[in-house]
Amino acid sequence: MIGPSVTTIALAAAAWWLAALLLGLGNTVGYHRLLTHRSFHTGRAVRWFWTLLGAMHSGSPLFWVGLHRLHHTKSDGPDDPHSPTRGFWWGHAGWIIGVAHPVPAALFAFSGFGQQAAILWMDLKRLAGRNPPVWRGICTDLMEDPLMRALDVPLVMPALFAAQVAAAWWLAGGWGVLWLWSLHLVLTNTSWGVNSVCHWPTFGVAPFENRDQSRDVWWFAYLTNGEAYHNGHHRWPRSAKHALHGGSDLSWQVIRLMCAVGLARDPWLPKAFRAGAPAKE
Ligand SMILES: [Zn+2]
Ligand SMILES: [Zn+2]
Repeated sequence: MIGPSVTTIALAAAAWWLAALLLGLGNTVGYHRLLTHRSFHTGRAVRWFWTLLGAMHSGSPLFWVGLHRLHHTKSDGPDDPHSPTRGFWWGHAGWIIGVAHPVPAALFAFSGFGQQAAILWMDLKRLAGRNPPVWRGICTDLMEDPLMRALDVPLVMPALFAAQVAAAWWLAGGWGVLWLWSLHLVLTNTSWGVNSVCHWPTFGVAPFENRDQSRDVWWFAYLTNGEAYHNGHHRWPRSAKHALHGGSDLSWQVIRLMCAVGLARDPWLPKAFRAGAPAKE
């Protein structure tokens, strides 16, 4: 027989979808709502589960959390690490490589494994003493966790990525690596899209008054597990639920499910959106 069978293709597609879902939630439920904003509480096993899924594509959790907390304090100001006020493609992916021009920034964004190359480069610079881990000072609350510290050791993230490539190659050769490449392509661009699409003035709506350009973009929420309700998120960063006025928010549904089965507790919501609150804020 020439080429993969229909069953193999169906299995690969199902595995891709499941991986995209779980790894995406590792970023949104784990890195973002749990580690960065402490929107709910869990035990160590659940925290490590989501953290490891996020680490498959989002880099060191301490770095990610530090950078994202900086974004919230400096949103769309001159010190925001990735504001699209410097251009859409800068806010999307150009900021990672320090390039504002749309062409190289878009090429980097669509390179698929570009983020992993950037992580390797940052780690090599760190080993050479040219990239001190200043982000650790922004997330001292996570420094007690040995997994967070271990994942922040230089070259650990590149090693985790190399293991993914090796496993993909071992399972399906070049097709396996292509499978992994397309997975990283979608995961990175949907995650970066929260910084570009959801801070771009012409997309979506801004139902809450913020000092930044954050927007609620309903259609992008389907691709970001609810993170695209970003205007509400900037208004109440700690809220475990982002789609405060309704809409698709898979991350919130997962947090609710974890609370229902005893794996999580105390999800925080703004007063006006808690059960029994008056209709108006
Ligand atoms: Zn934002
Ligand atoms: Zn946030």
